[in-house]
Amino acid sequence: MKVLVVGGNFAGSTAAMEIKRKLGKSVDVTLIDRNPDFIYVPSLIWVPIGRREVDDIMVPREKVLAKKGVKFVLDTAVKVDTEAQVVHTEKGKYDYDHLIIATGPKVRFDVVPGLKEHTMYIGTPVGAMQTREKLEEFKRNPGPIVIGATQGAGCMGAAYEFLFNLEKWLRDQKIRKKVDLHWITPEPYLGHFGIDGMPLGEAMLKKFMDLFNITYHTNVGVEEITAEKVVLSNGSEIESRFKMLMPPFTGVDFIENSPGLNCPANQFIPTLPSYRHETLTNVWAAGLAVNVAPTFEQGEVPFGVPKTGYPSDVTGKVVAHNVINTIKGIDKMEEKPWGEIPGLCVMDAGEKEVIILSNSLFKPRVFALMIPNVIFDFFKVFLEKYFMWKLKRGLSYLP
Ligand SMILES: Cc1cc2nc3c(=O)[nH]c(=O)nc-3n(C[C@H](O)[C@H](O)[C@H](O)COP(=O)(O)OP(=O)(O)OC[C@H]3O[C@@H](n4cnc5c(N)ncnc54)[C@H](O)[C@@H]3O)c2cc1C
Repeated sequence: MKVLVVGGNFAGSTAAMEIKRKLGKSVDVTLIDRNPDFIYVPSLIWVPIGRREVDDIMVPREKVLAKKGVKFVLDTAVKVDTEAQVVHTEKGKYDYDHLIIATGPKVRFDVVPGLKEHTMYIGTPVGAMQTREKLEEFKRNPGPIVIGATQGAGCMGAAYEFLFNLEKWLRDQKIRKKVDLHWITPEPYLGHFGIDGMPLGEAMLKKFMDLFNITYHTNVGVEEITAEKVVLSNGSEIESRFKMLMPPFTGVDFIENSPGLNCPANQFIPTLPSYRHETLTNVWAAGLAVNVAPTFEQGEVPFGVPKTGYPSDVTGKVVAHNVINTIKGIDKMEEKPWGEIPGLCVMDAGEKEVIILSNSLFKPRVFALMIPNVIFDFFKVFLEKYFMWKLKRGLSYLP
């Protein structure tokens, strides 16, 4: 029995190692990733301001996976022929009995003219290092800054985190007084986060914005970006010398090149609550690659839902469980719709943090809490240390 996993960061590596751990020699598990290293993406927000080096948050994949009996292939998957059950990569082809797709996002820089040319993006190691260089340059000639998210974005939390970390960095560099700091977001109110907010979330974020003297613009899209300014959908223009905006995500080219996957226009995989493909019984998806429709009412400016690390890990485990059951001939599937997965997240605010906890990501919720911690970002650092420890040891069964 051959299980092939494409994409091996949070979701894919969890699924691959869990299947191998539970089925042992009876299954051949191969994981294809275009990147030799695991990367702990949530700490990328600290790379531009020099609080982390990229090497601090990377773990080479091959050794960890080999120890767990998973074959690692360093290659880029180009497309899948779902009828022939073959994945084509840049260097070869791989057949499978079960295919798990966990390829994460592709960033849509084409959503706004000028976005790619004139804004920074912190979501990749390369982007985070380029942002660091840009900030060094900015330090010598400070001016207004725009941070935020464009229309269609879903990963607002990371942009909020970068905003507050950058504000602290500006103070540390002793240039804060020379900088007008603006936050722009398609959310109808601060702290919507694509999950229709949390109790006290808006009030807490407003307080942070006032405290740190940040001008915020909600319910706005972006029309155009130039080297000197950001033009908003409401017609106003904000001058800026440095910009970091979170664009929308879509599925990667591998998915777009594979019409057999029958994906919607956003190129995310349509799945059942078991994370099995809606129509292809031996294709599964986990993590950010899963199509998740917003359940909140869209306002004037559209935006998406957050697909964060915890649900990515959970869906990796659900897929592992269900692939194992299927291989064993058990019909019963574990089902965990994305919106019903508990919310567990920390929003860093520059050596401060807000802990976000809820029994389910989407409403209705039985409980939902946002707990501010203004002393230090202890939990964010703890989560990073825990995940790095877990990744290095391949302990995929841990939460
Ligand atoms: C800046 C930033 C900060 C964030 N902060 C947080 C946070 O604080 N907390 C939180 O919970 N979440 C956070 N997130 C979200 C979190 O990073 C994602 O939820 C998580 O990375 C999704 O995991 P995944 O395994 O589905 O996808 P990814 O982590 O994106 O992994 C996808 C993998 O697929 C591989 N791949 C893609 N295409 C191919 C291909 N064609 N062939 C081979 N391999 C391929 C990639 O190399 C990658 O290894 C943040 C995101 C960003 C961008």
